[in-house]
Amino acid sequence: MPTDYTMQTTAEYYCAYCGEPSTTFIDLSAGFTQQYVEDCQVCCRPNVLHITIDEATLDVDIQTDCEDR
Ligand SMILES: [Zn+2]
Repeated sequence: MPTDYTMQTTAEYYCAYCGEPSTTFIDLSAGFTQQYVEDCQVCCRPNVLHITIDEATLDVDIQTDCEDR
């Protein structure tokens, strides 16, 4: 069992608009697949984040889409 287990983690994604990396907080209690909109920390445009979390390892995979497509 992990000693520092927490229901929140952080992961990096690349902005769908400007390509710059941003860090997002992920609430693991919200489920292992999540989708929400977060503004890029660099260009402030809205990215749709499609988040998949591996239940065994808690590895996070993030795909990004432009919201105004
Ligand atoms: Zn951006």
